[in-house]
Amino acid sequence: MTNVRVRFAPSPTGSTHIGTARTALFNWLYARHTGGVFVLRIEDTDKERNTQKALDELIQGLKWLGIDWDEGPGTEDEYGPYFQSQRNDIYASYLKKLEDAGRTYEKEGAIYFKLEGERYTEFDQYVGAEIEKVKTQPVVIDDLIRGKVTRREERDFVLQRSNGDPSFHFVNVVDDIAMKITHVIRGEDHLSNTSKHVELFNAFGFEPPKFAHLPMILKSPKDGKGKMSKRDKGALIAEYRERDFLPEAVRNFIALLGWSPKDDQEVLSIAELVERFSLDGVQKGGARFDEKKMAHINFEYMKAMPIEAYTRSASSALRKTKLINDDTNQDYLASCLKICQAKIDSFENLPGFASYFFSEDYPINEKAESKVFKKGDAITRIQEITPVLESLEDWSEATLETAFNQLAEKLAAKPFAWFPVVRFAVSGTNSGPDFLPMLKILGKKRVLARLKNTEEKYA
Ligand code: GLU
Repeated sequence: MTNVRVRFAPSPTGSTHIGTARTALFNWLYARHTGGVFVLRIEDTDKERNTQKALDELIQGLKWLGIDWDEGPGTEDEYGPYFQSQRNDIYASYLKKLEDAGRTYEKEGAIYFKLEGERYTEFDQYVGAEIEKVKTQPVVIDDLIRGKVTRREERDFVLQRSNGDPSFHFVNVVDDIAMKITHVIRGEDHLSNTSKHVELFNAFGFEPPKFAHLPMILKSPKDGKGKMSKRDKGALIAEYRERDFLPEAVRNFIALLGWSPKDDQEVLSIAELVERFSLDGVQKGGARFDEKKMAHINFEYMKAMPIEAYTRSASSALRKTKLINDDTNQDYLASCLKICQAKIDSFENLPGFASYFFSEDYPINEKAESKVFKKGDAITRIQEITPVLESLEDWSEATLETAFNQLAEKLAAKPFAWFPVVRFAVSGTNSGPDFLPMLKILGKKRVLARLKNTEEKYA
């Protein structure tokens, strides 16, 4: 048994960012690793900025990534409700505690938290006026990732705005107390709030939870320097879904944004992630977003997929681009996909990779074209191989192989001499699935027709 209770506390104000998903995942992994409880708490006190759309997207994103919550919207238990907008009674009673303890005062309709310490006034260049400051004791945060961080609050801050809404700092701390949160794992951008939060915990007479501030996510080098923004490619979770990335692969990738196992293994199943995750393994420095790593991980997951699941995802990608429809022969589709599976790193690239299996209107790769015709013997090669293939009665990989070998022997050449031009003729490019299986699947009629077309076009 463990008493670990962590929470993911998003404010649904916009699209779900990869950093938000990372915070959710790290909390979830920590809870699952320690056998603790993962709480989802919706911080929706900012009425102007919260939207139902953002909330729906967030919940959908968590579900897509397989991040389930033990407590949160939809669960009934002693710590709810889990929408801050429904917890006003709780906030009122906690505010009263601070009032009773003499730790609040009212100014211009707002209620302020009164820091402890000697008061003095000082000219503040940002405010442009004399303001009141407080000589407080420094707050030492023993952050589980960043080590000891010392900060000092010197100005009282708002607990309740003049319109009656409680402030972020206040509700955040009240709920961490009320929900018995033991570890606060969140983005580094909140480190600067933590001294306020610790002041509040102290004022309520509660030991603050342990804090772990996750490193920020840095732009991929080709997008420039600094923190990744919502506009950068790969920043939004919805984008991964739309691009047909596998949720398990995206989750695996997100787990590596600032965390790594000791041996730097990159492809980790969910069970391995849960087993190996620790806050010790989280780095202090920024976590660089790496699109290539995402593609590589997705590739590994795609290769390992059972063919049924692969076919489902692949079909949806091919349907989107109208390469297949309800009439497509399922056996033919399955055999095409089987030889493509180990070759591409995302379903998004599948239509471009495999269009010639399903359409006569496939693109011609110009680089491949000039390479194939550079030597000047390509048309001769087509003329040599065409009658050989025409004469085949049985169109199997074995008979195809023999046919190429026999021709090679007869003309004292290597069978590979015919491969590039034939591949180009039937697929418009110079790379793709394994050659003989590809010819077999395309079928005799199609292969011969495309050889003929190529001969006519380039002769
Ligand atoms: N609602 C805050 C946010 O979305 C959460 C802060 C926290 O985790 O303490 O950034």
